[in-house]
Amino acid sequence: MVKKGKMIQLPEAFENRMKIQLGQDYPNFFQALLEDPPQSIRINPNKTNPPSLLPSVRSCHTGYYLPERPMYTLDPCFHAGAYYVQEASSMFLEQLVSPHVRKGLKVLDLCAAPGGKSTHLSSLLSEDCLLVSNEVIRSRATILSENLRKWGNVNTVVTCNDPRDFTRMSGFFDIILVDAPCSGEGLFRRDPEAIQEWSEANTALCTQRQRRILADIWPALAEGGILIYSTCTYNPEENEGNIAWLKENMDAVPAVPLLTVEKGIEVTDALGIPCYRFYPHKVKGEGFFATAVAKQSSTDRLASFKGKSFFQPAGKQQRALVKDLLIDPGYFIFQFEEELIAWPQMLQNDLESIKANLRIIQAGVKIGSLVHQQILPAHELAVSSVINRAYFPEEKISLPDALRYLKKEDFQPVSNQKGWHLVTYKGIPLGWMKHLGNRINGQYPKEWRIRMSIDAYIGERLRQENGKFPFPAGADFY
Ligand code: SAM
Repeated sequence: MVKKGKMIQLPEAFENRMKIQLGQDYPNFFQALLEDPPQSIRINPNKTNPPSLLPSVRSCHTGYYLPERPMYTLDPCFHAGAYYVQEASSMFLEQLVSPHVRKGLKVLDLCAAPGGKSTHLSSLLSEDCLLVSNEVIRSRATILSENLRKWGNVNTVVTCNDPRDFTRMSGFFDIILVDAPCSGEGLFRRDPEAIQEWSEANTALCTQRQRRILADIWPALAEGGILIYSTCTYNPEENEGNIAWLKENMDAVPAVPLLTVEKGIEVTDALGIPCYRFYPHKVKGEGFFATAVAKQSSTDRLASFKGKSFFQPAGKQQRALVKDLLIDPGYFIFQFEEELIAWPQMLQNDLESIKANLRIIQAGVKIGSLVHQQILPAHELAVSSVINRAYFPEEKISLPDALRYLKKEDFQPVSNQKGWHLVTYKGIPLGWMKHLGNRINGQYPKEWRIRMSIDAYIGERLRQENGKFPFPAGADFY
C-alpha cells in the first residue's frame, strides 16, 4: 500500500543508473519504493510452533509475513528469542545453504552483526556442526552475541576479528557466508538514512572493501567448500563484478546443484556463475543479491589442535552439580572464571583451534556460576536448548506480568514455593526468578530490560479479547 503523500528523493546518479539497469521496469521499481515495506519474521523452531494463519515466505520454511508491524518490544516472545525480525528477501540464504548441509560442518558467518543470518544458519545446522559468528566491530559483536544467546543453540562461537585474521585458519571452514558491508541501495525504502549516505564514490569504496574481504577469507575455505556472498545493494560492481573478480582471481566455480528459483527472483550471470537478484517491485521483500560459489583449488587444512588445552574441564564435583540442569549429560563442561559452560563434546578440538587463532567473545551456553559449591543458574541456560526444563519449577505468567518481569518490575507470583523458578510465557522461557517467600527477585539481565513505559499497553491488553496483542487481529501467531 502506498502511504498517502509519501515522497522519496533519490540521488540523481542512482536514479540514472537504475533507469538503465531496469529499463521499462523502472517506474514499477520507483512505485514500490513508495509502498510500505512488508513485515516478516523468522521463527525459532526450537522455541515455537509454526503460526497457523500467517502467509509463508516461500524461500524459507520458518519465515512468515505479518499483516502489519506490531510493537515487538511489547511481545515477551520477541525478547525470549522465539523469532527474529528479518526482511524476507534475505531469507533466501536457506536455498543456498540447504543443499550443502550435512553432519559435522564447520560454518563461518564472517560479517554477522546483528545476527539475522547467523540465527538463520544456526537453525539450519544440527548440533554436531560448528557455527562461528564473527563481527569486526566490537560494539556490534555485543549485539550479535545477545541475539545468539537468546536464540539458544549450544554450538555457536562469537568472535570479534578482522577478516584477515582468518588466514590463520587455513581450509578450516566448509561453508563461509560473506554478507558484505555494502552501499545499501536495497534498503532505501526502509531506511531513509541509507539514501543520505549513498554516493558513487562510496559504492566504489564498498567494492574495493568487499574484494579485500573476499581475498582475506578465501584461504580459510576448505577445498570443495562453499562461499556464499550477499549484499543488499543493486549496482553490478558490488555484486556480479565482485563474483567475476573472485572467479578470475581465486578460481571460484559455480556451486552445484544449480537452483531453480521462484518467479520474481532475477537470475543473472557472472562469468558463468549464476547470481540471484531481488527487487521490491518483483518480490515481497527488499533489495537483495546473493550467490554461492565453490572452491576447487587445493588448500591445506589447519591441523587439529595439539597444544595445551585452553579450557579447564569441570571436575567430577562440578559435573555432578550441573548434571540435572542439562537435557544431555554428554556435553563438554568447562570452567571460565566463575562460570561453567556447556559445549558439544565432538566440537571440543575445534573450539581449541578457534581460541588459539581468534578472539572469542562468547562460546556455547553458560550454565551458571559456582558460588559456595552451588550453581547460580545463568540467564543463557534458561533461554537455551540445553536446559532440562523438567528439573525446574515453572512460573507461568500472564502478558502484563511478563512485561513487568522484562522491565524488572515487581509482580505477584502464582506459586508460593521458595527457590529458583523458570519464568515462562505461553510456554516459552523468559528467564529466572528467585522466590524469597514474601517477595520475588527477578533475574532478567538488566542490560536487556524493556526501557519504555508499558502501563498504557498493559491496560490495552486487558481490554483485548483475542489474546493476540501486540499482534494485529488475524495474525494467529502462537
Ligand atoms: N549478516 C548480518 C545480518 O544478517 O544480520 C548483517 C551484516 S551487515 C550487511 C555487514 C556487517 O559487516 C556489519 O555488521 C559491519 O559492521 C561489518 N563490517 C564492516 N566493515 C567490515 C570489514 N571491513 N570487514 C568485515 N566486516 C565488516
